[in-house]
Amino acid sequence: MLTYDPAIPSAQKAELENAVREMGTRLPAKSGNIPSDLFRRLDGMVAATADPGFAAACPPHAWLSYDPWIGRGTPVDEGPYAYTGAACIWICERTFREQRVMGTRRVAAVLLHELVHVLCGSELDAEAFEWLLFELDGATAPDGGDWESFRLYNMRGRWIYLDTHRTPPQIMDYQGRSLGGFTAQNMPPTCANLPAGFLR
Ligand SMILES: [Zn+2]
Repeated sequence: MLTYDPAIPSAQKAELENAVREMGTRLPAKSGNIPSDLFRRLDGMVAATADPGFAAACPPHAWLSYDPWIGRGTPVDEGPYAYTGAACIWICERTFREQRVMGTRRVAAVLLHELVHVLCGSELDAEAFEWLLFELDGATAPDGGDWESFRLYNMRGRWIYLDTHRTPPQIMDYQGRSLGGFTAQNMPPTCANLPAGFLR
């Protein structure tokens, strides 16, 4: 279940509600690419087709707000998209701005990314599921800082790991199933320009 901060302005609230509706349809459509326990928790949060038994036993919950200040006055490509502490998510103005400019579902992609963090997913988990659900429609490819974080944890997340011996790197579940790849196209930095010895 998601609770909206009452202070969110109406324009951003409407965009967030659209994003939650989009996730409510996209999650079941992509459920084959999401480990079932993660799927149930995410689906329970957006309250689309939640398993009532699961929701009653362990209601997943997040509080959702809007930050108009961080990144204000900077160029469009600076500042965070969002940040999360415990179960509180702030979506920043940059995300809404990019959605307006690019005409993609950026708000939904960022919200999904942050929900994975609320469920204690790592940066790799959050980037991977953002990519798998919103590739070419709001997801951004991992940047240099993201790759540093992936490397720190040996390319392993809570629900998936990255097979970097394949091109493009494959997002794998722990049953050894490939869920998809970070395509080299649209992916700065590509495997080719990562520092030497980066991929092991
Ligand atoms: Zn993240």
